[in-house]
Amino acid sequence: MASIQSLLQNAELPGSPSARLDAEWLLAAALGKPATYLRTWPEREVPAECAERFAGMLARRRQGEPVAYILGRQGFWSLDLEVAPHTLIPRPDTELLVETALALLPDEATRALDLGTGTGAIALALACERPSWQVVGVDRIAEAVALAERNRLRLRLGNVAFSQSHWYQALAGQRFSLIVSNPPYIAASDPHLGEGDVRFEPPSALVAGADGLDDIRSIIDGAAQHLLPGGWLLLEHGYDQGDAVRALLQGAGFVEVRSCRDLGGHERVSLGRLIGQPSEAPHAQ
Ligand code: GLN
Repeated sequence: MASIQSLLQNAELPGSPSARLDAEWLLAAALGKPATYLRTWPEREVPAECAERFAGMLARRRQGEPVAYILGRQGFWSLDLEVAPHTLIPRPDTELLVETALALLPDEATRALDLGTGTGAIALALACERPSWQVVGVDRIAEAVALAERNRLRLRLGNVAFSQSHWYQALAGQRFSLIVSNPPYIAASDPHLGEGDVRFEPPSALVAGADGLDDIRSIIDGAAQHLLPGGWLLLEHGYDQGDAVRALLQGAGFVEVRSCRDLGGHERVSLGRLIGQPSEAPHAQ
């Protein structure tokens, strides 16, 4: 039998930018222990069946499969979420969207909508931080809705509901004070789609037409029918799409339009507010 330390030292993940951490996460999962166990007991022998499981996981990682899909889990905000290949893996970047939404609206009863919820990450984080809110999360893909619902049940959050809808399609007549989305925003020709972890994620969660803005345009266009007067729309977008998204928001009559930067210093979230009823919404010059 091999020790934890020797298995980690011999784990080869040449293609991974985070090889040591990947190996630690995978070995901890193969052992059914928290990652801290590995550092506390480096000399401990690993049972043969766990070592075998670990070898199988390393082989998948060497093929490029993201650690989150191998483990079936990913941390987001304060939550441990189940993930599956029909959904995007929640990213730390998207925590900026959650943070911005929370800072914008006080802790009073609010109806919030998360479009393209995937694992439910954004909706669940908002519901968890704001027990007085009623959060709705929708996704076009039935498997994503089922996954988000499993995450909701495991987290025991009663103030969020998930249902199937392609953007606003199944939400006729419903209005919200806050609409958030991390939609697909990568241009179809972006070479980054052929590299690293994104190769394993569903293109439908990543790609949005020739300029990456197709879904953002649909979401902005439909917002007036689903925002309450004074309601906010917050969108995550690509690092170089801030100007374009602000222009789209202003063109659709949004005011107080601005963008927020992620930890890498890139404009990552843009937002705006719609005052008055849709018919009264002012049009930008
Ligand atoms: N930020 C992700 C990436 O660049 C894309 C997420 C998305 O399209 N919503 O990999």
